[in-house]
Amino acid sequence: MEIFHHYYVNDDPQVVSGEHEVHRNICLSLAFARSKTYLGFYADCQKALEKAGTIYKKVTRCSFCCQENSQP
Ligand SMILES: [Zn+2]
Repeated sequence: MEIFHHYYVNDDPQVVSGEHEVHRNICLSLAFARSKTYLGFYADCQKALEKAGTIYKKVTRCSFCCQENSQP
């Protein structure tokens, strides 16, 4: 069974890489984001990344909440 999560992209890019991080709504580091944009309700981070890519050129998955094989 697929588990869906709400995903957001941080509107502020990473200082060094310039990438915008994609997070699940439950992620603690998202709580520290000054501004975020709602991406949608997805079963996996890849879909959220694709959506974020339509908003920002450089996007990346959060290393805490959006690992490729992370279990909820
Ligand atoms: Zn995160």
